[in-house]
Amino acid sequence: MTITTSSPGEPDIVVVGGGLVGSALALGLMRSGQRVTLLDEGDVAYRASRGNFALVWVQSKGLGHPEYALWSKRSAEAWHSLAGILREEAGIDVAHSQPGGFTICLSEAELEQRAAIMTRLHNQPHMTDFPYEVLGREETKRRLPDIGPDVAGAIYSPLDGHVNSLKLFRALHAALAARGVYYRPGHPVASIAPEADGFRVTGPWGELRAPKILLAAGLDNARLAPMVGLEAPVKPSKGQIIVTEKAEPFLRNPMVTIRQTDEGGIMIGDSQEEAGFDTVVGMSVISVMAERAVRTFPRLRELNVVRTWSALRVMSPDGFPIYEQSQAHPGAYVATCHSGVTLAANHALTLAPAIAAGGPLPDAVATFTSRRFHVPAGL
Ligand SMILES: Cc1cc2nc3c(=O)[nH]c(=O)nc-3n(C[C@H](O)[C@H](O)[C@H](O)COP(=O)(O)OP(=O)(O)OC[C@H]3O[C@@H](n4cnc5c(N)ncnc54)[C@H](O)[C@@H]3O)c2cc1C
Repeated sequence: MTITTSSPGEPDIVVVGGGLVGSALALGLMRSGQRVTLLDEGDVAYRASRGNFALVWVQSKGLGHPEYALWSKRSAEAWHSLAGILREEAGIDVAHSQPGGFTICLSEAELEQRAAIMTRLHNQPHMTDFPYEVLGREETKRRLPDIGPDVAGAIYSPLDGHVNSLKLFRALHAALAARGVYYRPGHPVASIAPEADGFRVTGPWGELRAPKILLAAGLDNARLAPMVGLEAPVKPSKGQIIVTEKAEPFLRNPMVTIRQTDEGGIMIGDSQEEAGFDTVVGMSVISVMAERAVRTFPRLRELNVVRTWSALRVMSPDGFPIYEQSQAHPGAYVATCHSGVTLAANHALTLAPAIAAGGPLPDAVATFTSRRFHVPAGL
């Protein structure tokens, strides 16, 4: 990871956390004219940004919270602009494409269940412009000739896509470096104290002050947010991923659990487990994932696995993002979500300019405050 140490000057804002969320927001803030200091604990931290599945995914998002479907779709649309900005500012092609994505079903019952979920999702308000199709086996086979005999059908949406997530991470940091961000890896934030004209941020490395602060520290937001009158009750959700050796390109479209990367490897994932801060790879979960992948595309049986890993998602109680400015200490913000790849475009191009402007956050994110966790049951 590039380390820049350009002259700090007086920052307008300190961003805590240099993962995908913090770095996308930091880039957007700099593009809006803000001087940014980015404090990051570094690679020793739990980092979802280095272990994710790299989907820019819309089709299944927003059941119970249609604004999240709209927010995801808006980001998928804005992703073309973000990819262009990264190409221009960082000189890195992050291999973004939006060819449409499939959710493969391995039995009629699975297909029916998935189709019922999509109907419920689309019966919600504002869900008029979310194209999707429920495909039977024959049509799925026509579009994906390599599927195996166990595939009963699929859900398809043209809104879905994917990127190279590690290239994205590198490109965001390279673009920040090119703009002269003051990036401090190995700088964990221990505490934050609101003061009359801003915030004092302290760690084992010393302290600094800034008029604004943005918490984008992934799982550590849960600890940091209350220090500035905010709340981010996020918890880890473990996901495991398998990567095979490189293969001839055969899979243009991403699926929710299988995709071929721009470099040729097949990624298989991604499970969800509530296992606390455990990041051990478990063979029982890996073998179920591998077995389903081989039933989906029997040709995968021929490929060697080259890597497996697990990483921790940053999960709020209802799975939706939290974006909020502190009412008690204006100028302090928190941003956290479990789809930081998908939402990177919104973070850089919509949320960051609003934070830079210092006013209220955009209407599009008005429902994503932590106040929703305090609605009494039954209301
Ligand atoms: C298995 C898996 C699959 C996924 N698949 C997808 C997908 O397909 N599509 C998608 O959109 N999303 C996906 N995600 C989610 C995505 O990776 C995350 O939403 C995103 O990486 C979260 O980024 P973040 O910056 O909030 O958190 P993190 O990546 O966890 O980064 C937090 C950063 O904060 C820093 N930090 C922590 N504490 C402190 C502190 N006290 N002081 C300073 N710095 C601190 C850390 O060093 C780290 O750099 C997946 C995640 C996992 C685990």
